[in-house]
Amino acid sequence: MFDITESKKVEERLKILSERDALTELYNRRKMFQHLEESVDEKKINGTDFSLIMFDIDHFKKINDTYGHLIGDETLKKLVDLVLEDKRSNDIVYRYGGEEFIILLPNTMLEDAVKVARRLHKLIRNLQIPTVGTITVSMGVVEYREDEKIDELLKRVDEVMYQAKESGRNLVKY
Ligand code: GH3
Ligand code: MG
Ligand code: MG
Repeated sequence: MFDITESKKVEERLKILSERDALTELYNRRKMFQHLEESVDEKKINGTDFSLIMFDIDHFKKINDTYGHLIGDETLKKLVDLVLEDKRSNDIVYRYGGEEFIILLPNTMLEDAVKVARRLHKLIRNLQIPTVGTITVSMGVVEYREDEKIDELLKRVDEVMYQAKESGRNLVKY
């Protein structure tokens, strides 16, 4: 007998693995590119704006070096829990790299995206993480520019975030 529910479960599991990061269960880069392409199409067709927030933990290497990799992993998970808890229902969070995250804010212009970023930035600063204490992040915020390519958009948000790092970290730049 062929168990259809078992094969459905396997199929669902494979889909999760292909779209999500194993540690945090956030959507991965691949899924992010797919959503960004859809957002660019939305802008072309309906003129719908969108913005991105990129953030990276400040001096995260020091947390690993001081407390070990497992505590580092727990720190990432606690941070993600907070971001998911706080985010607006339509905003989507991705694990972009090791300790680097992107939030897609559909239907949002720069001014509101900056407000969202500032609020989140403050919440992260106040988050108490067992063993570690508190952490800070550097954030960059950009609004999608008409006809911009996705890699240009990502380069721009990366540069803005890097400005926050260069200006001393624990900052939101836009
Ligand atoms: P900066 O303020 O410039 O961002 O400094 P940083 O130390 O955060 O930056 P750097 O890029 O030097 O280090 C990032 C560290 O993140 C190094 C890497 O080992 C760690 N990391 C990346 N992914 C994971 C993970 O999944 N778990 C743990 N525990 N550490 C990770
Ligand atoms: Mg970092
Ligand atoms: Mg980094």
